[in-house]
Amino acid sequence: MIRNRYDAILIDLDGTLIDIDLNKFIPAYVSTLAGRFKDFIESDAFIAHLFGATTVMVENDDPQKLNSDVFYEDFCRRIGYEYGEIKHLIDDFYRHDFPQLRCWGNKLSHSGAVVNAVKEKKLPLVLATNPIFPPEAVYQRLGWAELSRDQFKFITTMENMHYCKPNPNYYLEIAEKINCQPDRCLMAGNDTLEDLAAAEAGMETFLVEDYILHRKDHKPIYDHRGSLKYLAEFLKQ
Ligand SMILES: [Mg+2]
Repeated sequence: MIRNRYDAILIDLDGTLIDIDLNKFIPAYVSTLAGRFKDFIESDAFIAHLFGATTVMVENDDPQKLNSDVFYEDFCRRIGYEYGEIKHLIDDFYRHDFPQLRCWGNKLSHSGAVVNAVKEKKLPLVLATNPIFPPEAVYQRLGWAELSRDQFKFITTMENMHYCKPNPNYYLEIAEKINCQPDRCLMAGNDTLEDLAAAEAGMETFLVEDYILHRKDHKPIYDHRGSLKYLAEFLKQ
């Protein structure tokens, strides 16, 4: 049934395939990154610029600009350094510091079953994680969930996407990249705003309840909902 109904399955990472406490992970992430930049810029200013440039990237709607281009253009302008001058700090951070943050991420017992159910149906699986991170940060978090990048046909990162969630263009761009009609795709995720926005692109949606993220003043509208365990069963149908 699922095989006849969908041509591709899209799934979110944080709070869906991995248990990650973003209220602890994000502060640890930004303060450690700020530490790498301490000889260039004072930490509080760095963090303000990091969030400022991230907001500009999330709100960008220019189809000609990759998310990474939007981010670094804005971020470098704010801190007054060229990308070439700070690239080694970012590379060192992801190589040496980011692995230390894995204490905030835990595998979920049913994530493997979801991935395997899609594989058994021979459907392409897309890791539709908000593309505000470089590939290395996404691959490492996948590893914390005991999943690997080769289980996915396509993984969205800041270096291969032109939009962020909840922009419906993000979902349309994925459909185009994997050569599927949006109405033949299912998007599953825990965020009532960012993940369910796939419906605006014409996709079917599945709200994963285990670590559901409610947004104020946003009434969730979805096609299906249930636990990650139920999603695995749903995909086996
Ligand atoms: Mg999520």
